[in-house]
Amino acid sequence: MRAGSEGTFLAVDVGATNLRVALFRGNELQAKSVVRTPTTGGPYAVARKILREAERLGADRVDAVGVATIGPLDIKKGMVIDTPNNPLRTFYLREPLEKEFKAKVVVANDCVAAVWGEKVLGRGRDVEDLAYVTISSGIGGGFIVDGNLIVGWRGNAHEVGHLVVDYKAEIRCGCGGLGHWEALASGAGIPRMAYIKAKTWRGVPTEAYKLASQMKLDAPGLYRLARNGDYFARELVRELNKIHAAGIASIASAFDPKIVFLGGSIFLNNTDLMLDEIKGFLGEYTLLEPPRIEVATFREDAPLMGALALVLKTPEVIKKPW
Ligand SMILES: [Zn+2]
Repeated sequence: MRAGSEGTFLAVDVGATNLRVALFRGNELQAKSVVRTPTTGGPYAVARKILREAERLGADRVDAVGVATIGPLDIKKGMVIDTPNNPLRTFYLREPLEKEFKAKVVVANDCVAAVWGEKVLGRGRDVEDLAYVTISSGIGGGFIVDGNLIVGWRGNAHEVGHLVVDYKAEIRCGCGGLGHWEALASGAGIPRMAYIKAKTWRGVPTEAYKLASQMKLDAPGLYRLARNGDYFARELVRELNKIHAAGIASIASAFDPKIVFLGGSIFLNNTDLMLDEIKGFLGEYTLLEPPRIEVATFREDAPLMGALALVLKTPEVIKKPW
């Protein structure tokens, strides 16, 4: 690594389910822990847990801390505000961590961090225009345009899960809107999409169809049955892949990325059923030649490596004095 990357750094990924904390010397991983993200204990519970894990990893003194977190954020305050993904709703990150470590703390949304990780440490190193999209229990993205990380005034310029991919869909998203990509094709949305598909299904009543009509076809079940050749499951996976292609095409029209890196547990666990088919549908929805679609360099550690990248090379847009 170049100068500036020497030192001891703590990287943190605050996920909806898991909290990952890792200690690095330069960009060399020293120790890592994965625990459940606290859901009770007030607005300092997450910061307290990070400190406890850091201590367990032997991080008594660190030069900087990078945090990638679920959103939405108030990036000026370095805190999460009113998130639907954790019952704590609002919690502090930068202020308590700065106080405790007496070191620089850089906080960004997890997908924003992940795309920065691709640029600084991953296969996006030599690319000036790139995107990272997570397909998980939710859907989100991070973007670099002309080499610049896109952040937005409060740090939320990446809520692409709420792009409308079907204006006629009467499925309401967790956010309240209709036809959103996340409502239709995320892990959380799959049981409902499957149920709706089952209502109009005229094909053979397969195992997936039976589960779907009781609203019991979840994401792991869907992809497992599709892999086993269940016709209903295979058809639904194909439809979901079309939705992902439509979402990615909308992103391509807005940001013009050369490469779109895909991550998130649904995608990483089912790359065999998703990657090629999404690529195949993409041309149907894009204006120009579709962007390259690749698996995220650091897979499930994409936000964690992004958090490290935030401190190894802090983006100008996050350096600005608030
Ligand atoms: Zn929405």
